[in-house]
Amino acid sequence: MELHLPKPVTEVLDCLKQAGEQGYLVGGCVRDLLLGRPVHDYDIAVSCPPERTAELFGRYPLVETGRRHGTIGVVTQAGVLELTTFRADGRYRDHRRPDEVRFLPDVTEDLARRDFTINAIALGLDGTLIDPFDGQGDLAQKTIRCVGEPRQRFAEDALRILRCARFAARLGFTVEPSTRIAALEGAESTRAISRERVTAEVLGFLAGEQFGQAVDVCLPLFSGVWPEAKRLASHELARLGLPLQAEAPILVDARLLALAACFYRVRMGGLPQSIQEGQQAMEQFLAVLRLPRKQSSLLGQGMELLVLPPAASHAEVCRRLPCYSAPAVDRARLAAELLGQDREAEWQWWRQAPCRDRSGLAISGRELLKLGVPAGPEVGRLLATLRDAVNSGQLPNNPECLLEQAMEWRKTEP
Ligand code: ATP
Ligand code: MG
Repeated sequence: MELHLPKPVTEVLDCLKQAGEQGYLVGGCVRDLLLGRPVHDYDIAVSCPPERTAELFGRYPLVETGRRHGTIGVVTQAGVLELTTFRADGRYRDHRRPDEVRFLPDVTEDLARRDFTINAIALGLDGTLIDPFDGQGDLAQKTIRCVGEPRQRFAEDALRILRCARFAARLGFTVEPSTRIAALEGAESTRAISRERVTAEVLGFLAGEQFGQAVDVCLPLFSGVWPEAKRLASHELARLGLPLQAEAPILVDARLLALAACFYRVRMGGLPQSIQEGQQAMEQFLAVLRLPRKQSSLLGQGMELLVLPPAASHAEVCRRLPCYSAPAVDRARLAAELLGQDREAEWQWWRQAPCRDRSGLAISGRELLKLGVPAGPEVGRLLATLRDAVNSGQLPNNPECLLEQAMEWRKTEP
C-alpha cells in the first residue's frame, strides 16, 4: 500500500533500517490507516532493546518512563512516537498488568500479545503488511475478534473487555460471537481496573460515533463497573442509543445522565422523585469514575433538572432559571429525550427566556462601574438581581431601565 506518513515517522523508520534494525508501525495507527481514518498516534515496534533505541535516537528528546517494558518515547514534531521492543507479556496476576515482559526477536510474536486482530497488524516502511491473524479480513468484515482464545485473553487483562466496547462504539463493528460471549462472562472482573482507566474507556464508549449500534451488545460489558448495566431492558437500550444532534462533550454528558437515571430506575423501580434522591443517584453512579469537578457539578445540576416535575408555566421556568446554567439545561434536555420524558414545552420556555446567562442582559458590569458602583462583589450581585427581574417579567431588558433600577436599589439598600 502507498503510505502517506508524517515526515518524522518516516525518518525514524528509516533510521532504524539504516542501523540494521527492524521497525514496524503497529496497533491503532495501522488499523486507522487501513480504514482511512485519521491517525492520532503512531506506535512503532522495534527489534532492538530499549538501550539501543535510546542510543539510536539520542539526538531527539526522549521519554524513558516505559523503558522497563521496552518503550522509549521519541519526541518529534509529529508528537511523541513510542518505540517498543518486540515483546511478549509474562504472567498476569491482577487481570491487568503483566508481571514481567520478555523481549523477542520477531514482530510476529509481538503481534500475538495484542488484544484484537484489527490491532495486531504490522506495517513496514515499504508498505509490507504482516498480518498473522487476518486482521485485514476482520477490518473488511467490520468485526472485533480477540487474538487467540478470548476467555484467556480477557482473563489476562480485563481492560480488553472495556476496550472491545469502546472500539465497537467508535467503529460501528460487531463483536465476533466467541469474543462477545467471553467478554460478557468476564465483565465482572473489570471491577479490578483503576478508576482512571475505567473513566477513559467509559467516556470513549459514550463518545463513539456508532454508539447507538453498539449499546445493546456492549453496555452489559460495563457490569463490573455498574452492576445494573446488564439489567436494562432492550427498549431502554434502544432509547439510550437514539441519535442526538450535539457536540461530543454534551452528548457524553447527556448519556451519562440518562444512564445514571436508568440505573437508579433498575435499582429502585422508578426514577428519582426528589432533588435529594437525584443527588444520591448521581453520586452513586459517579463514585466509580474520576471526572473533573466541573463536569460532575454540571451532571448534578442536570440530574436536578430531570428530577424536578416539569415546570408548568413560563413564569416557573423563569423562577428556576437562575439556579441552572445553560450547559446544564442542554444536557438535561438531551437526557430527557433519551429517557423518553416529554418536557419539550419546558425547554422551549427556557430557550425563550430573555437572559439565560449574564451575556443576555442588556447591560454589563462596565456600565455599572461607569455610574460609580465600586469594582467588587456588588457588581455581580446587582447584575444577578437585574437578570432575575428581567426573567420574571418585572423589568424590560432595556439598558436605561436596568441602570435606573440598579441606581434605585443602591439608594434604598445601604
Ligand atoms: P486508540 O486509537 O484508542 O489509541 P489503539 O489501538 O492505538 O487505539 P492504544 O491504547 O494506543 O490503542 O494501544 C496501541 C496498541 O497496543 C493497540 O492497538 C494494541 O495492539 C496494543 N494494546 C493496547 N492495550 C492493550 C491491551 N490491554 N492488551 C493487548 N494489547 C493492547
Ligand atoms: Mg493508539
